[in-house]
Amino acid sequence: MRRSRFFLPTLRETPKEAEIVSHRLMLRAGMVRQASAGIYSWLPLGFRVLKKIEQIVREEENRAGAQEVLMPTIQSADLWRELGRYDAYGPEMLRIKDRHERDMLYGPTNEELITHIFANSVKSYRDLPQLLYHIQWKFRDEVRPRFGVMRGREFLMKDAYSFDLDFESARRSYYKFFVAYLRTFARMGLKAIPMEAESGPIGGNLSHEFIILADTGESDVFCDREFLEADVLAKDVDYGDDVAVAGVVERFTSLYARTDEKHDGAAFAAEVPEDRRYEGRGIEVGHIFYFGTKYSAPLGAKVALPEGGESEVHMGSYGVGVSRLAGAIIEASHDEAGIVWPDAVAPFDVALINLKASDAACTAACDEAYAKLQAAGLDPLYEDSDERAGAKFAEMDLIGLPWQLVIGPRGLQNGVVELKRRATGAREEVSLDSALARLT
Ligand code: ATP
Ligand code: MG
Ligand code: MG
Ligand code: MG
Repeated sequence: MRRSRFFLPTLRETPKEAEIVSHRLMLRAGMVRQASAGIYSWLPLGFRVLKKIEQIVREEENRAGAQEVLMPTIQSADLWRELGRYDAYGPEMLRIKDRHERDMLYGPTNEELITHIFANSVKSYRDLPQLLYHIQWKFRDEVRPRFGVMRGREFLMKDAYSFDLDFESARRSYYKFFVAYLRTFARMGLKAIPMEAESGPIGGNLSHEFIILADTGESDVFCDREFLEADVLAKDVDYGDDVAVAGVVERFTSLYARTDEKHDGAAFAAEVPEDRRYEGRGIEVGHIFYFGTKYSAPLGAKVALPEGGESEVHMGSYGVGVSRLAGAIIEASHDEAGIVWPDAVAPFDVALINLKASDAACTAACDEAYAKLQAAGLDPLYEDSDERAGAKFAEMDLIGLPWQLVIGPRGLQNGVVELKRRATGAREEVSLDSALARLT
């Protein structure tokens, strides 16, 4: 993509309405624009990041054995009435009437709908387990939408649902998602700590929130500092090996880590030496829970058993805040100059900066580098405009691409270009060929 063609409405001023750094940077870097309170449009730069995050989530769900579906955003109130959640959900639910005066709603979550689909389609124990997920917009009319996409009203969530024959099998599904979440967040360059959590209005007793420690987070959390130093898990896991999967879960649940609803001061003091006790704030980026037959029983989701008779299926649900992650990653990775994207979610791989677009030789060298980067399968943003160099550097630092490849007439005379790593600021003067070799 050429910068001169790219729709990138960056802001020089810091927007007054933005209270936290990720919100400020997302606005300044032209990633999103607010459409109304808690509702955002995603502009090209932000959209690219959102899609990268979504794709990592998708790949790790698939790897764990889940299958992707797509359910609608608008649901009928009838299904929600069957479980009494239409009234129980309260003002967070956006309620709509269609032209026939039928009550509809913009889905805040999908337990009812997926259980309904399952109940009408699966009849035998032979078809279990089933792990289904979708990545779809949700609406929750939050009392206080704030912090940009971190607490939106309309937001993108990955929600998965597991269907199993009994508790033991449901726990195996839960463990698979637990491990998939460790991998998902680690791939995004994040340290998300699994913490014991209350399962909230959904109920049940096996529940973990995945939390990124950050002062701007809205959850109060308590954990063993060992988590802060612990390795984030990114290695391959054989999901077919129950013992190996359970082993990973046991390793990550052996240390104290709880959200405030589950926190127990006495247990914290007994289990964690004083110098290792961490109390702080965190951002909830994922939440998994097992809730047994809470939905399957009332909605008639049951299967025929091998020995005859029927059994209600055991379920769990597993959410990831896809759009919240765009903000959370920035909270975790930025500096004075702007965003510092982890490689895996960066909107482009490299900024190719032409220091003097009016210089024919310089532009020819840049054009050639641009073609070579693309030919190597990379996605470069080519800063080809005739802006002054200082403004180009500032903007490229702001949007935080992992690498900057800077080509200017003076360097070219000496046969060198500059390669800068955004995260460390480290610069190297090397030949164009070795810079390309490094990047590709
Ligand atoms: P929170 O405690 O932040 O209100 P929640 O516990 O209500 O979140 P869940 O029902 O567990 O949310 O939904 C799964 C995931 O969806 C959350 O872990 C979070 O990452 C994301 N999420 C929830 N509400 C929002 C929101 N208003 N804006 C953006 N992401 C959200
Ligand atoms: Mg909430
Ligand atoms: Mg929560
Ligand atoms: Mg939650």
